[in-house]
This record gives sequence, structure tokens and C-alpha cells, in this order.
Amino acid sequence: MNVLVINAGSSSLKYQLLNPQTETLLAVGLCERIGIDGKFTYKPQLDGKETLKAIDVAMPTHSEAIQAVLNALVDEKNGVIASMKEIDAVGHRVVHGGDVFSGSVLITDDVMKALEDCIPLAPLHNPANITGINACVAVMGADVPQVGVFDTAFHQTMPAKAFTYALPYKYYTEDKVRRYGFHGTSHKYVAGRAAAMLGKDVADLKLVSCHLGNGSSVTAIDAGKSVDTSMGFTPLAGLPMGTRSGDIDAGIMEYLMNKHNMDITEMVSILNKKSGVFGVSDLSSDFRDLENAGKDGNAEAALSVEMFNYGVKKLIGSYAAAMGGVDAVIFTAGVGENSASQRLDIAGGLEFMGITMDAEANKVRGEETVISTADSKVKVLLIPTNEELMIAMDTAAIVSAL
Ligand code: ADP
Repeated sequence: MNVLVINAGSSSLKYQLLNPQTETLLAVGLCERIGIDGKFTYKPQLDGKETLKAIDVAMPTHSEAIQAVLNALVDEKNGVIASMKEIDAVGHRVVHGGDVFSGSVLITDDVMKALEDCIPLAPLHNPANITGINACVAVMGADVPQVGVFDTAFHQTMPAKAFTYALPYKYYTEDKVRRYGFHGTSHKYVAGRAAAMLGKDVADLKLVSCHLGNGSSVTAIDAGKSVDTSMGFTPLAGLPMGTRSGDIDAGIMEYLMNKHNMDITEMVSILNKKSGVFGVSDLSSDFRDLENAGKDGNAEAALSVEMFNYGVKKLIGSYAAAMGGVDAVIFTAGVGENSASQRLDIAGGLEFMGITMDAEANKVRGEETVISTADSKVKVLLIPTNEELMIAMDTAAIVSAL
């Protein structure tokens, strides 16, 4: 079965065509500057096929972008399938499923209505995701099943004590203000891979999954279910990130807004775009730059990385306490998969809780590896995430059951 995976943004659209059963990637690419001057990138994964890199293709709307993707996939010379009939289903990444969706779903009219209802919760992301779905239906026809896979769904198993904010309760009941959590597709994928690596059923494992990238979140996964996670009502919560502040004392906002005569839009923009490791270092949101600058004696760059690592370490400890133990800690995403020094800084010094890092085994990047010692009671795992494969797997499962 071939699944086209679509991740639609407001002016961009990432896509992959893959077979989730054989885990074969057929093509991957990106439409950029939709509605502007249209740039199209296509990377077929079969021998002898040519890559197209940021070529000019008119894409006034997402529909032309999807059409460009289909044209490339079936192209006589550089295509990877003979016709559109070889696309069995489309899986869409959708950022916010509110408290309505606790798993992936076949898109129907009712589902589209529920997605519209979730727009206030993710006003920047959900409208683009909806546009992507509408464009696929318009171009591919109603016969090709479309499936929605939500960043929030995996976390719907959190108990009320983990997802409720200590605010007047009516803000939860009337306004849906609660912890939702994000990166759910990634956390779910690596939890499944961790179980496979350890040769155990995920139902028998307590896991702490650390998705550390430009956006970062840590999740406590007990018996395959998310029981707590560090992002909240929005992805602004939890760890300091590339440019996001993560958790701060909400009182700081009033103080700074009064002192510098800022309105709330300006304040929130600072928290989202000018804070995190970028804000502290005043240098970069990229951890590679910060690590290098730290080595060259830039104290704030070093501090920003230290703060980030310290935040992850504290979450590992608190989630182990929340679950009454932990069998494995997982590192994934850009930083988690690539930065040996940060993994060592985060998971080092945790011998008291049964975690002993293997400094040699840790000198690896981007491949599934156990990076704790053989006698470490708690295993530490490096697992490259693959959200597209997870979306394709969920899509295939839903479509196969139709
Ligand atoms: P996102 O998907 O959230 O944009 P990624 O998961 O791709 O982010 O992670 C991107 C981040 O990973 C970059 O900001 C960079 O700081 C970090 N990263 C990538 N490679 C390395 C590395 N070798 N060492 C440290 N950090 C790295």
C-alpha cells in the first residue's frame, strides 16, 4: 500500500510517498512559497531518477501544489509510480485535534466540521492543515481515502491531574483551556521502536521520551499511553526551546509589559520568537552554533545550552517519579539524535536512579542504538524519529479496516 503523507503549512507543503508495510520511501519533497512565486522540490528515491530542486512552478493555491506533487510522482521520466491509482490513501498531519480526537481518523464531513471547531486552539496551523485536506480532495477526488493524524491525539490519555491547569475550572469546561501536548506522533513512534529494540511489549514499559529539536517536549509514557507531557495548551510550554521561552512565571508578563509599555501581542511574540536559547545567548537558536560558541568562551551561549539540558534532566526525574519508575529514556529529533555531548550532559549523573551512560556507545548519531551500559538498570536509547512513517502506518491501519 502506498500512502501520500502531507504536512501543509500556510505557504508550504511537505510531502512523502511511502509504503508503510515495507517501510519504503518512494519520494520526498516540498512545495514552498505557495500563493507567492511557487518553488517546487522533488526527490525521487529510486535509482536513475532526477531530483528537482526549488524549480519555478505556479502555485497560486494548495490545489496547484498538490497537482504539482502528483504530476511529479507519475511523471514518465522521473516519476516513481505509473499512475495516481497507485496512491491508496493520503495521511495528513494535523496539529490540533482538541479533546475530540484521541487517535487518527478517516476524514469525513463531520470530521472536517470538528477540525474547523479546533481552529481557535491552533489558529496558525489548523487552517493550513484543513486547506491541505480540501486541496487533496479537490485534486484527487473523493474516492481516495484521506486520514487525519493529530499532534495532540497521543496525549489524550493523560489523566485530569496532569492536564488540568490550576485556573478557575470554568476556563476548562467552557473555554477548553487544558494541557493538550504536541509531538504526539513522534513520541508514539519512538515508544513503539523502543519496545521493539528492548524486545518487550510496550504495555510492559515505562518510558520517558525526549523529543529535542528546534521545538522540544518530553513525555511520560506508561504502558504505551502518554500520562504527562511538557508542552501545554500551546507548544510554548515546558522546556526552553530554539526561540520559545518554555515555562516562565506568568507574573513576568505583567511586569515587563508595564515597564516597557508593550501590548500582549508584542509580549507573546517575544516569548515565541525571541526567547529560549536564542534569547539567552543573543546569538542563535541552533544548538550547533551554541555549542561551538560555548567552546570559544561565549558564556551566555554555554549557559543557554546548560539551561536546556538541565530542564530535560529535571523532566526525566519528575516523570520517573510520576510513573513510579522508568525502564528506558529515549532521545530523538535534531538535538536528541545528533548531540552526543548534550545527551551525556542530560543523562549523566543519574546513576542514583539506575541510569548509567556508556560514553563510547553514545558517540553515535542518527541510528537506533542503546547508549547506556550493559548493566544500566534503565536503558537509554537513541531512536531517530519518523513522523511521516508513523502517519503512513496509522493511515494504512485505518484504510485497511474500511
Ligand atoms: P524541528 O523539526 O523542531 O524544526 P529538528 O528536530 O530538525 O527541529 O531539530 C533541529 C535542531 O537540531 C537544530 O536547531 C539544531 O540545533 C539541532 N541539531 C542538529 N544537528 C545537531 C548536532 N550535530 N548537534 C547539536 N544540535 C544539532
